[in-house]
Amino acid sequence: MANFFTKILNNIFQSNEVADEAFYEELEEAMILSDVSYSSCMRIIDAVKHEANQRGVNLTRDVQKILKDYILDLMMVEEGYYAFEQEKSIISVIGVNGVGKTTSIGKLAYHLKKKGKKVILAAADTFRAGAIEQLVEWGNRVGVDVIHQKEGSDPAAVVFDALQSFKAKNADVLIIDTAGRLHNKKNLMQELGKINRIIDREFAEGYRETLVVLDATTGQNAMSQAKLFKECSQVTGVILSKMDSTAKGGMALSIQAELGLPVKYMGTGEKVENLQRFDAKRYVEDIFD
Ligand code: GDP
Repeated sequence: MANFFTKILNNIFQSNEVADEAFYEELEEAMILSDVSYSSCMRIIDAVKHEANQRGVNLTRDVQKILKDYILDLMMVEEGYYAFEQEKSIISVIGVNGVGKTTSIGKLAYHLKKKGKKVILAAADTFRAGAIEQLVEWGNRVGVDVIHQKEGSDPAAVVFDALQSFKAKNADVLIIDTAGRLHNKKNLMQELGKINRIIDREFAEGYRETLVVLDATTGQNAMSQAKLFKECSQVTGVILSKMDSTAKGGMALSIQAELGLPVKYMGTGEKVENLQRFDAKRYVEDIFD
């Protein structure tokens, strides 16, 4: 998974014995090449340098341990982060076109259905051409109902219908596919706000999640998208798609360090079963393998 990141880090730790300024510069460069954002990288390196100074150590093998512990601390998520998999819950999913939003929703529906949950999908991305049909196709593939209206209809009306169906069928999880028009932030905020108000009114007691889908191969672009989405909505986590492709591995770290968002799932392929819960401990172990 974090193959590139692992290789490049191992290389630096093996070729340097002493953690001097030149070493820290190499470390910085390696992290940035692995898609760790500049500000996360600086924050991590400053913290590691400080800790190494405090402990009075300057060998790279000690620094490696400090770095690993620091990243582990940063990435650890609490058990409660997956409460929505147990309780009745409404999950809104946002993401710009092409990041793998529809595919991730299909895979998430499958993942939850396998856990014995009754899942319903709502096609509230009524703007993008073909989005509704694509979601209906995924619904058929996974065997879950998709509530939809025609293209261009009011997303909030679709969500209202979906919530009635959710209640009538006593379903466990409603996954809402929402639009990802980031270039029109004001519209997007209004649209998401309207959807949220309907959920507040119709289903105040349930767990709520807003997951942003980010394409792990797009580095800084994905970070900017996440930042903007955070400004538009109460984002609670990230689905990091395409971790099987050319992703360099550092993005999950930046998402947590810079945005304070937990990565909850990662997509590892195009098939329905290619979605896994993100295992932070394993991710860090892999980086320092
Ligand atoms: P959307 O426009 O955001 O809804 O994106 P789609 O769900 O249509 O996905 C865009 C492309 O990315 C499709 O060709 C998907 O098969 C592909 N894709 C989505 N998730 C993954 C993943 O985890 N790994 C790989 N390799 N491809 C993915």
